[in-house]
Amino acid sequence: MNVSHNERGKKIYDNILQCIGHTPLVRMNRIPQAYGLECEIYAKCEFMNPGGSIKDRISYTMVQEAEHAGLAKPGTRFVEPTSGNTGIGVSLTAAVCGYDCTIITPDKNSDEKMSTMHLLGSEIIQTPAMAHHEDPDSFVSITKRLLDENPHAMSMNQYSNPVNPLTHYEHTAEEILDSLGHVDMFVMGSGTGGTVTGVGRKLKEKCPGCIIVTVDPQGSIIYGEGEPVLYFVEGIGGDFVPDVLDKSVIDKVVKPNDYQSFNMSREIIRKEGLLCGGSSGAITYSAIEAAKEYKLGRGKKVVVILPDGIRNYMTKFVSDQWMEANLFQEPPERDFLWWKRC
Ligand code: PMP
Repeated sequence: MNVSHNERGKKIYDNILQCIGHTPLVRMNRIPQAYGLECEIYAKCEFMNPGGSIKDRISYTMVQEAEHAGLAKPGTRFVEPTSGNTGIGVSLTAAVCGYDCTIITPDKNSDEKMSTMHLLGSEIIQTPAMAHHEDPDSFVSITKRLLDENPHAMSMNQYSNPVNPLTHYEHTAEEILDSLGHVDMFVMGSGTGGTVTGVGRKLKEKCPGCIIVTVDPQGSIIYGEGEPVLYFVEGIGGDFVPDVLDKSVIDKVVKPNDYQSFNMSREIIRKEGLLCGGSSGAITYSAIEAAKEYKLGRGKKVVVILPDGIRNYMTKFVSDQWMEANLFQEPPERDFLWWKRC
């Protein structure tokens, strides 16, 4: 890392990419108590990354790897299929390093993510969220087509790039171990599956008996069969099993629904002051379920990842009106007669 220090010993970074990772690990206090848990729950606050999510980590390492391999060079255009956060991470890296970037993303993903990528200078193509990955209109098919058409285009290919899980094996997991020394349970949702695979592998090596839990939203078929059904939580689940996901590291899968996920995100924000996103609620909900099932008692340590933050969802689950309109929350009792009493 190219970090210099000023005359008072304070760090000065060469650019914002140097600030990726080393995110805070914060103990949750009121949530475990509210659900009658005796174990400790620690939140790895990935929303504190410069681009606002855990995907900054792999975006930067995948670009670095592509540069070392001579695949990314001046004039290269990155073409990325993503649920949005890798799009922000790759757009951020492209903006700082001077690459062009096209992001292909399903249309269920938030406008806030689109605006961020747009302002970072990326071209954005939205695809129908329910198009099966083999459908010519799906985000995977459109990416393939763009790559075939443009000789200067390349994809980081996060769904099959080994750098994705390796980054979490070498960095994210090491940071958690550095902070806690020992972990009894680790919980993370599967999008590409890169985080749960990389962190899970390292924790299984270093903390024998550590239980690895993943989260697959109701409607997703990464763990299970049948037809995928539309759900609103962003960044986790899907209609195919990514190459980088190693299911052998996973001990348990929890399948929360949107109602449980969004209400838990709101509870985390209100009770812990952790300004997290929607998948964080799904992950914490699943951690509570799994901790109860495995009867984790006093002194046991559970780590949850909070993959992204509130910023991406200001017009979605953060809004009372959106929660009510989608039946995730009862409308408050409104006093329609107030004006008579004035
Ligand atoms: N949560 C959010 C909000 C995400 O954007 C992602 C990445 N798609 C994940 C969780 C899952 O991370 P991974 O791709 O490492 O499985």
